[in-house]
Formats: sequence, structure tokens, C-alpha cells
Amino acid sequence: MAQTKYIFVTGGVASSLGKGIISSSIGKLLQARGFNITIQKFDPYINVDPGTLNPYEHGECYVTDDGQETDLDLGHYERFTGIKTTRNNNVTTGRIYQSVIEKERRGDYLGKTIQVIPHITDEIKRDMLYLGKKAHYDFVITEIGGTVGDIESLPFLEAIRQLKWELGGDAVCVHLTYVPYLAAAGELKTKPTQHSVKELQSLGIQPDILVLRTEHELGAGLRKKVANFCNVSPDAVVQSLDQPTIYEVPLRMQEQGLDATILRKLGMPVGETPGLGPWRSFLDRRHKATEEVHIGLVGKYDLQDAYKSILEALSQSGTYNDYKVKTHFINSEKLNENNIAEQLDAMQGIVICPGFGQRGTEGKILAARYCREHNKPTFGICLGMQMMVIEFARNVLGYADANSAEMDSKTTHNVIDIMEDQKNITNMGGTMRLGGYECELKAGSKVRDIYGENVIRERHRHRYEFNGDYQADYEKAGMACVGINPDCGLVEIVEVPELKWYIGTQFHPEYSSTVLHPHPLFLDFVKAAISEIK
Ligand code: GLN
Repeated sequence: MAQTKYIFVTGGVASSLGKGIISSSIGKLLQARGFNITIQKFDPYINVDPGTLNPYEHGECYVTDDGQETDLDLGHYERFTGIKTTRNNNVTTGRIYQSVIEKERRGDYLGKTIQVIPHITDEIKRDMLYLGKKAHYDFVITEIGGTVGDIESLPFLEAIRQLKWELGGDAVCVHLTYVPYLAAAGELKTKPTQHSVKELQSLGIQPDILVLRTEHELGAGLRKKVANFCNVSPDAVVQSLDQPTIYEVPLRMQEQGLDATILRKLGMPVGETPGLGPWRSFLDRRHKATEEVHIGLVGKYDLQDAYKSILEALSQSGTYNDYKVKTHFINSEKLNENNIAEQLDAMQGIVICPGFGQRGTEGKILAARYCREHNKPTFGICLGMQMMVIEFARNVLGYADANSAEMDSKTTHNVIDIMEDQKNITNMGGTMRLGGYECELKAGSKVRDIYGENVIRERHRHRYEFNGDYQADYEKAGMACVGINPDCGLVEIVEVPELKWYIGTQFHPEYSSTVLHPHPLFLDFVKAAISEIK
């Protein structure tokens, strides 16, 4: 069996340069060459996982099928490669320390003084190698969160330094930096890149490949200069120019031979350049789709990253419907009886977003009502589905005080209630109902039709559920419970068959929508929205 090769991806100069997209693109290109790959992310923050983080801090929390709350970059890895990630694909400083401290308490270290080096770095190294050892991948791509120079990144970089030394020719480091353009001088500046590489070198790491993020085309002269100053061969300096869509990035990387350079540096035969046929067809279709369909996202987080997977799922589905999805954020906290028509009428479809806590929920309920009464295609996801259920109870079943126990623990009509196994939980981290569960679809329902399958599996992240005591009431009044968990009987999907498209899911279908396999519910929802265009 061939030795697993390790690719480390670090970043310098600034955050948000797109390390996740570069890592995903490298994964995609190697996968297209027939290699078995996985991508993992190591995050230097102290939270054990991002599950307890506010989306304002860290964007969306992505959930793996095996139930781990992870960094949103894992969503990119899955969307690009179609390969499922697991709880082992995201490790934080918090998790490393937790595990070292548990070992110390157990006495595993036999009286040693526990130190950052070697104990923390050994634990990081063990985790970095874990997936390669466990599943025998050809390539393990490891993205390091944060920026070189941060204090908290140091143990991770020290681990990479040691691994590069131990693995020799079987490891490479790809460093992503930024080349700013100074408008006043009319010049692109390489100094920040030189400093960032110096910083890495001072930690004992010589990057093998540099990816330069830039808003302007970088000439051959500039690349040569960077190569010269940074001890990197000229063919190993690649530019990452802003693209109209992130899904173009693998093609731009392939054109510059990033994957071929990686193979060469690892002493592997380069072989033929893969055609990336289906990927190119997707992009062709995307470029041709210029007509717009307008989808409103009713939620409380006014930032792109909070609903990352939903935005990507919608945009992929737009392409497959030959339309461009234009999403509009509608702040649910600001929605009221007076402005709802003006805000929602211009939209052809509405997504009622997931979320936690009371803030903005009444606006979501109002939106659910408006859409139901105006027969507008509506997709409620997790909390969004719960708000559809509450609205229906208040305005159709006549339970004026209906609510979720999350918002009002004393309501007499707790149509959304805390799950039995959640009642005694006091620890908030990693204790929700998380990850993939099966769901049986009712024959004759719209969702059964859309999925084309009787049993599906979807990912969850919630503590509250549809209260089964009310199921008969709902069914009688026209809201059908069409997706049921076969093991515990929980209602996972509701729909109003009388309406054009009014579906709520307790799970998060957005997590499993990928570029080459867009999610059927999103595809059908966008299609329904398109048919609303007058
Ligand atoms: N707050 C709700 C619950 O815990 C919904 C969670 C979500 O939207 N992910 O059940």
C-alpha cells in the first residue's frame, strides 16, 4: 500500500482569504485524478467545537452526518468533493487540551510534567495523522485555521514543522497569502507575502507552494520575484484571482498546475490532466443562467456566513433550474403587519431560517402566515418549520397562545415541545439531537414525490420537536405530517398539500446539497419559485 501523503494548508497576512476554498479545490483536483482523499480542519480557538458559538462570531455551524458540530469550511469540503466528513475532520485547540487533560487525570503520562511541547504538539500530530492511518487515504489535506503569527496557532505550526521533518518527501506545505494593490501607487505589493513567509520560516517551516490571493492579475515578473525571495520554485507560485463564483477556483488552480506541482513535489507521477467534465458542465450552465428568481431569507442574522449552506444550496439549485437565485435577507425582528406585504411580495419564494431563542421568532411566524395565506412557495428549515407549525396552530387550529416550549415554557398549547431525552440536559455543548437520522416519507405526499424514495436520511441540530399529541388536529385541519422517524415516531416534515409549496423540515437538508448532487428539496423549491415569475 502506498504511503499516505499529507498536504498542509496555512494562511498569512489576513484571514478570510479563502483557505477553505483552496483546500477544497486541491481536494477536488486530486479526487478527479482518482485519488482517495479527505480534508480536515484544525482550528486554534479554545471552544471544544463551534456548536456553542454565536453565528456572529464564527458563521454557520456545519453538522456532519455522524453528529459533530463543525466549522463551516467542512461544508465547502463536502460541496466540492461530495465526500462526507466526520467528527474526526475538525479538531480545535479545546478538543486537544480536553483530551490531554483527560489523559493526565487518568495517569497516562506516568508522572510527567505536561507541557505544550511535547504533549500538546504530540496530541495534535496524532490527530493530524489519525484519518490517514484509520482509513488509508492517498492524501490527507489539513487546513489550519487562523493566520500565521497568531499566538494560538503556534502549537499547530510546531506540529507541522515536526511532521514535515518526520514525513520527509511525503508532506508539503501550501501557504496562502495576500498581494494587495495600492491604488495611489498603481502597484501590487509583495512585501506582506515576504513577511508572512519569513514568519513561517522563523518557525522552521519552508512552504513548498505559495498561493497568492489578489484582486489584480499577477505578472510573471512579480511571481518570479516572490519565488526568489521566498525560496520557492517559480512554478510553485500560483495566483488566486477573485472569481465570479467560488466554484471556478478548482479550474483556475488546475490551469496553473497546482495539483501537478503538488504531485511533483511529493515525488509522484503527474499523469494526464483530468477533464473535470461534470464540473465544467455545471459552470457552463451557471454562466448561461442569467434570469433571476428572488428568494427571501427570513432570519435574524444579517450576515452571509450565518446561512452559508442554505445560500449555497439555493444557488446550486438555481443553476440546475437554469436560473440565477438572487437571495434577499429579510430581518425577522423588523417584520410587522404593516411592512410584511411590501417585504415579501417582491419575492417568488421564502425560506424561513433556522435559529435559536426568542429573538425574531414573531416575525418568522408572521412571514409563515403571510406565505400560507398568499400561497407563496415557502420552505421552513428547523426553527423555520417550528414557526410554520406554531402559526398554523394559532391561526387555523385556533390556539391563540400556541408556542414552542423554547420561547414560552408555560404555554397551554406547546405544539413544539422539548424532546424527552433533552429534558435533563444542563450541559449545552454537543448535546442537541445531532447528525443523520432516518425518516419515512408518507405515500402520496409531495415530499415523497420530490425525493422519489420512501426512506431518507437527513442531518439534525435541535432540542425541540413537533409535539405528537397534536398530530391528529393538524392532519384534520390540512397540515400533513409526512415525514416520520421510524425509530421514535418523531414528526420530521410537515406540508400543506393544498398549497403550491409549503414544506417545513425539522432537519437541515442544506448540509447535504453538493455541486454535483444538489438537494431534491431545494431543487424543487427553487423550481416552484420560478413558476411564480409573472
Ligand atoms: N431552536 C430550535 C430547537 O432547538 C431549532 C434549532 C435550529 O433551527 N437548528 O429545536
